[in-house]
Amino acid sequence: MTERRLAVLGGAPRFADPVYVTRPRLPDEEAVLPLLANVLRSRWLTNDGEMVRRLEELLRLRLGVGFCASFCNATVALLAALRALEIEGEVITTPFTFPATVHAIEWAGLEPVFCDIDPHTWNLDARAAAELVGARTAALLPVHVYGNPCDVHALRTLAERHGLALLYDAAHAFGVRAHGAPIGSWGDLSVFSFHATKLFHTAEGGAVTTASDVLHQRLRSLRNFGIVDEETVRGVGINGKMSELHAALGVAVLEIVDDEIRRRGERAAHYRERLAGVEGLTLQALAPDTTPNHSYFVIAVDPDGFGLDRDRLHAALRAENIVSRKYFQPLCSENEAYRERPSAAPARLPNAHRVAARVLCLPLHGELTLDDVDAIADAILEIRAAAPALRRHPLA
Ligand SMILES: *Cc1c(COP(=O)(O)O)cnc(C)c1O
Repeated sequence: MTERRLAVLGGAPRFADPVYVTRPRLPDEEAVLPLLANVLRSRWLTNDGEMVRRLEELLRLRLGVGFCASFCNATVALLAALRALEIEGEVITTPFTFPATVHAIEWAGLEPVFCDIDPHTWNLDARAAAELVGARTAALLPVHVYGNPCDVHALRTLAERHGLALLYDAAHAFGVRAHGAPIGSWGDLSVFSFHATKLFHTAEGGAVTTASDVLHQRLRSLRNFGIVDEETVRGVGINGKMSELHAALGVAVLEIVDDEIRRRGERAAHYRERLAGVEGLTLQALAPDTTPNHSYFVIAVDPDGFGLDRDRLHAALRAENIVSRKYFQPLCSENEAYRERPSAAPARLPNAHRVAARVLCLPLHGELTLDDVDAIADAILEIRAAAPALRRHPLA
């Protein structure tokens, strides 16, 4: 092992082919093709068909929620969810998220207000949010980043105290439970993404869960142009429907999602074993009293302790054909559409900037072998050992 030369210094890459950060879990063709064939034979390809209804009922049970409305993707689902709340004004959210969270607020005609994150959980800081609540604040839109639940108790208290709507971006949090309750049961609404890169997927898709029949009916109408019945169109709807083919894929993927969670959990535990205690690395904190879904494995690189900054580790891993991702850098508040807003000023978001400069999402999915995990951990340790040489090396 000591003989190995790092790829970034001219050695052969550790993996012959790229190891991607994630890979969509797919059912056996025998499980999914008959479902697709049924849809095709029925000629009912979209518009509240049998498959969509079946998937929604299965998801309602799996997610442990009162109502579940499927959508074509989570971005449109977020947009519809914000519309369903019938609010105006400002929405407090986190800059440490995927761009869709903030874009949806803007598309819904509301104003995003960026709030700093907790330095340990990397989720919206409820105390910082309390200081941002003003006369125009209408809602909170926190994100369960990497599937780690937000401080749901503190956020509920804050929302209740000021009469704010509470909408969660649960795109990463499929199947997670917090304090004994399903993640989708917290807040007024929760939005899930079923994009191919997410733990549970329908290739493209999403859903909104709620305990409110009224909100659920609004969502169903909003996703279908606002059509209530043959003679009534209410509100400014959109086309947010999931197709029958996507729902059929979802029905088959749902059968294997618990196995995928188990497999990812094993691999995450192995990473933890190998990387815990390495100076300069902080592993994603698991929130207490949580049933996790192990959708991501994220480390934070402290340049002083590790000897190299995150970008150099990222580049050195890339040379080994290990594809890690800097989720979420740049922060949404750095996007040119938002960076001039007062709440986007970096001085107001110190934790978010610090975390965004350090995080690295490592490959994690059920088809990765434990040997792959070992090889990735070995690569990280070798890169760390070579830090003095790499610091002098130009960034690839
Ligand atoms: C993936 C993702 C979305 C958007 O989901 P789509 O289904 O691709 O529209 C929204 N928010 C977060 C946090 C995400 O990771």
